Amino acid sequence: MAIQKRFIAGAICPRCAEMDRIRTWEQHNIRYRDCVSCDFFEQLPIKDAVLTELETRVNRPDEEPQRQDIQPVRILDPGNR
Ligand SMILES: [Zn+2]
Repeated sequence: MAIQKRFIAGAICPRCAEMDRIRTWEQHNIRYRDCVSCDFFEQLPIKDAVLTELETRVNRPDEEPQRQDIQPVRILDPGNR
């Protein structure tokens, strides 16, 4: 699986202060960031971040358009007795 490096829009490099030069990618539960203008490089574990993202995704009701709730089953209509 190829590693996807993507630029972070609007990110400013903490070392050279250039904007839109920071790339980020993830590998082996590590999030890497580096700068294409200087030799800034950073890595941090993303275990907590991944858990948070998953929880957020699961808890989003917008992504369940056809959610089927348990419907009450009417066995007898007491009005007809
Ligand atoms: Zn930089």
